[in-house]
Amino acid sequence: MATSASERRIDEGVMVDDGMRYLITGGAGFIGSHLADSLIGQGGEVVILDDLSTGRRENLDHLLDCERAEFIEGSVLDDQLVDELMRRTDMCFHLASAVGVKLIVERPLESLLRNVRGIDIVTDAAARHGNRLLFTSTSEIYGKNSTGALREGSDRLLGPASTSRWSYATAKTLGEMLVFGYFRERNAEMIVARLFNTVGPRQRGFYGMVLPRFVEQALRGEELTVYGDGTQSRCFAHVSDTVDALIRLGDSDLALGGVYNIGRDTEITILELAELVIERVGSDSTIRFVPYVEAYENGFEELGRRQPDTSAIQALTGWRAQHTIAEAIDDVIAYQHEEVARSQLAV
Ligand code: UDP
Repeated sequence: MATSASERRIDEGVMVDDGMRYLITGGAGFIGSHLADSLIGQGGEVVILDDLSTGRRENLDHLLDCERAEFIEGSVLDDQLVDELMRRTDMCFHLASAVGVKLIVERPLESLLRNVRGIDIVTDAAARHGNRLLFTSTSEIYGKNSTGALREGSDRLLGPASTSRWSYATAKTLGEMLVFGYFRERNAEMIVARLFNTVGPRQRGFYGMVLPRFVEQALRGEELTVYGDGTQSRCFAHVSDTVDALIRLGDSDLALGGVYNIGRDTEITILELAELVIERVGSDSTIRFVPYVEAYENGFEELGRRQPDTSAIQALTGWRAQHTIAEAIDDVIAYQHEEVARSQLAV
C-alpha cells in the first residue's frame, strides 16, 4: 500500500513542511524555546513573540544568528501586533501564559487577566487570518480529580473560586471553550493540547516547579524541600517528548477540533523524586518536609495524583514518551552545571 506524504515524513521523524512559518507565543519560555529549536531543525521558520515576563532571552541566544528565527519582544495583549504576526505566518502555537503554581497563587488577578485576554486576542486573530492554532492547556484543569489515569473527557473537579490556585484552571478552561467555539461555529482550524508536568533543561525553579528546585538544592548541598508528606505523585515528561507531541498534533488534520493529553504515564511520588535527584547528583543533601501552609498560602489545595491517559494522541499520531525521569533529571543537572559555568564566565 502506498504511504502518504505525511506518513513518510513521520517515518523520517520530520513533520514540518519546508518553509512553513510558525508563530510561537511564549517562545522564549522553557517549552516554547525547545519547540522553536525543533521546528527550525525540521525546516520550518519561526517568529517568536514573548514579553519576557517569565520567558528569558538567554533561551534564544543560540538562535540569534539563525535566519529562520525571528524574536519579537512584545505581548499577546497587543492585538495589533498579534494581528500583524498572524498575517505573516501560517500556524500559531499559543503557549504564552502566566505559569507556575507559585506565581498564580501569589498574583492570581494578573495571571487570570493575562491568560484570558491573551487567548481571546490570539484565537480571534488566528480565525480572522485562517491560521491553524494549537492552544496549550494544562492538566490543572482536571483539578482534584484523582481517580486514576485522566482521559480527555474526564470530569473536572475544581475547588472554590476564592482559592487562588483554581484561577489558572478556570482561565485555561475558558481558552479551551473558545477554541472549541471557533472550531464549531467559525470553521477555524484549532486544537487543544493539555500538558501534564513537563521537565527538562531551561525550566526554572523560581516559579515553584519542583524538579529544577530539587536539582538546584541538591547541587548546592542544601536540604530538598518536599511539600506535605511527599506521598503526592506526578508523571513527568521530558520536554523533547512534549515538543514532539505538539508538532505531531499541529501537523494532523484529524486533530482539528480535538483535545489531547500530553504526558508520560509513569507515576512517581515527590518523595521518590527527591531521593532520585539526590542519587543522580551524588549529593549529601537530606530531605526536609515543609507543610503546605508554609510553602504556599492558607487554603492552598494540593493534588494527590495526576496521571494522563495518552491513548488518544497515541492512536492519532503514534506518539509515545521516549525519555525516562532519570534521563530528564540528568539533562537538568547538566543544564544547571552549564548555567553555573556561564554565570562565572560573565563575572
Ligand atoms: N513541590 C515540592 N517541593 C518544591 C516544589 C514543589 O514538594 O520545592 C511539590 C508540589 O507540592 C507538588 C509537586 O511538587 O506536589 C509538583 O509541583 P509543581 O509546582 O512542579 O507542579 P504541579 O503542582 O503543577 O503539578
